[in-house]
Amino acid sequence: MSAPPTFKLDGREIPFQPGQTIMQAAQDAGAYIPHLCHHRDFAPIGSCKVCSVRIKGRTVTSCTMPASEGLEVESEAPDINADRQRLIQMLFVEGNHHCPFCEKSGNCHLQALGYHLGMHDTHFVHEYPQHVVDASHPDVLLDRSRCVLCELCVRASREVDGKNVFAIGGRGLKTELMINSPSGQLKDSAVAATDRAVSICPVGALMPKRHGFVIPIGQRPYDHADIAQKPEDS
Ligand code: SF4
Repeated sequence: MSAPPTFKLDGREIPFQPGQTIMQAAQDAGAYIPHLCHHRDFAPIGSCKVCSVRIKGRTVTSCTMPASEGLEVESEAPDINADRQRLIQMLFVEGNHHCPFCEKSGNCHLQALGYHLGMHDTHFVHEYPQHVVDASHPDVLLDRSRCVLCELCVRASREVDGKNVFAIGGRGLKTELMINSPSGQLKDSAVAATDRAVSICPVGALMPKRHGFVIPIGQRPYDHADIAQKPEDS
């Protein structure tokens, strides 16, 4: 059997199967490329840009770029990580991400990426958005001001739960998660706390109710491990 084709990621040979993206091949090889809206179970949308890498001076999203033989991909360059940090800082100021009293702290990919990228402040002026919190459902809470618009719940509800409960609507800073129900509220939707759409949320925006702090602070995945050592979806 012939050896699989390879490309180089920061000088490391990464084998890939035809049809795989750079991100998929890197994940299969155990190489971490920072990402937020990507999840290996879903088709990529290339939205958050955190997984951007450089190939021959051109910046591309690694979750959508097909792998090909002989590519030389740069990911861990200081300027690429600086750009990633700016993206994470923008997400922090566009929402209300108050980690010390968020139930998701220690298990939040936004927070973990901030740590991973060495973020010490939020750099930009905070927007303090006034999005509506939807607490209407008996078992599920949606805090839109923590939503990073990754569309993972949109994809999971449609492709795994078979319900199509969520969509992204609005423009600019008013862009937010919409609910597909007669009232526009969770209580009139088909969502359930056990849906993949709820558990896949990488931040504290969509959460089951009455499960707060089941795992104590200090014992959560990113309280001690860097997200590169404990990526969420491998
Ligand atoms: Fe992503 Fe969570 Fe917002 Fe859905 S609610 S778009 S999963 S951050």
